[in-house]
This record gives sequence, structure tokens and C-alpha cells, in this order.
Amino acid sequence: MVLTPNLQSAMQSVVQQLISLQQVDNRVAAVQKKIDVIPRETKKRRAELDALLRTRDELQHAIDEAEHENRDFEIKVQGLDAAITRQEQHRDQSSNASTFTAAQHQIEYLKQDKEQIQNEQLELMDRIEGLTPRLEAATSAANAKQLEFDAYVAEAKKLDAELRAKRDVIAKEREQFAAAVPAASMELYRGLFQQWDGSAVVPQENGYCSGCYTKLTPNDRARLMARSSLVTCNSCGRILYDPT
Ligand SMILES: [Zn+2]
Repeated sequence: MVLTPNLQSAMQSVVQQLISLQQVDNRVAAVQKKIDVIPRETKKRRAELDALLRTRDELQHAIDEAEHENRDFEIKVQGLDAAITRQEQHRDQSSNASTFTAAQHQIEYLKQDKEQIQNEQLELMDRIEGLTPRLEAATSAANAKQLEFDAYVAEAKKLDAELRAKRDVIAKEREQFAAAVPAASMELYRGLFQQWDGSAVVPQENGYCSGCYTKLTPNDRARLMARSSLVTCNSCGRILYDPT
């Protein structure tokens, strides 16, 4: 087959357009990768913040519970004090020894109960005392993280908008290369770009496909040199071109 210079230059132009397209698509992909990082990073930071907030809330809850328990004890102590006072009146007004002794015993029981509750109150106070500095530390850690997170979110929002704008500008550039590529070649290129992660069109190097390092057949080498048709690697399927 005798090749007309027109066919040669048309095919060369398609390959040239595909190479340019691949460059642009890789720039878009690089920007997209940066865009995709943002929600992942935000989620990670959110989880860190949530963990600190949870710790703070758990400590606060433990202190609230201890204080609540302490108030209950307080009320019990007040009740016991009132009962002791009543029994003391009984005792002091008793007309015989047995009522005196009975009241005295009651007073002792009540005082034992009160003492037991007051011991539990002391334990509660110790617990609260131990938890309070931990709550303070957890609160300031959570506050610092919250500030950091808010600053990150504001930054990320700006960065995201910038990257999207950049991506859109590059995507516009893409159109001028894409327009000249025939539909079938475009479809082939798209599939390869996906499959080979941005390396759909590769140069031959010393008779090898530089994508997968498989040796080209003499026939494919001849077709590449002739620049008259789209040549693909027999092994990986990538579109080949001759860089010389
Ligand atoms: Zn190959």
C-alpha cells in the first residue's frame, strides 16, 4: 500500500492529539487526587476531634454522677440527723430505763449509718478531686483541637474551591485536543487511560513497548515507522508511537 502524505499526517496528528490529551488528563487526574484527599482528611480530623470530645464528655458525666450521688447522700445525712435529734429527744424525755436504752441504741445505729454514708461521701470527694484535673486537661485538649479543626475546615474549603476551578480550566483545555480525535480512537484511549492509570499512549523504545517492555513484532515496528495507522501493543494494548 502506498501511503499518501495526507493519511500519514492525519494519523500522526491523531497520535499527537492523544499524547496532548493524555498530558492534560494526567494534570486533571493529579488535581482530582488533591480534591479527593480533602474529604478523607476532614473525616480523619473529625474523628480525632470527636474522640477528644467524647473523652471530655465522659469525664464530665462521671463528675456529674458523683456529684449527684453526693447530693443524695447529703439528703440521707440530713434525714439521719433529724432522726438522731428525734431519738435524742425521746431519750432525754424517757421516763424509764428501757425506753432510755432503746433510744440510745437507735441513736448509735443511726450514727453508724451516718458515719458509713460520710465515709462513702469522702470516697466520692476523692473521686471528684481525681477527675477534675483530668476534665480540665481533656477540655483544653478538645478546645485546642476544635480550633485547629475549624481552621482546617476553612482552609480546606478554600483549597477545594481553588482546585475545582483549576480542574475546570484544564478540562476546558482538554476540549481542543479531544475535538480532533475520532470517536473510535477516543474510546480506545479512554479505556486504556483508566486501565493503565494515565498511561494509555507510550513511546516505543528500541523496538519495545515502554509500557510493558514487550518486544514489538517486525510488522508493528514497520507500521509504527510508516505512521499510517494506530498501532497498539500486542501484550498490554497501549497505543504506541515512535518518538524519533
Ligand atoms: Zn505493552
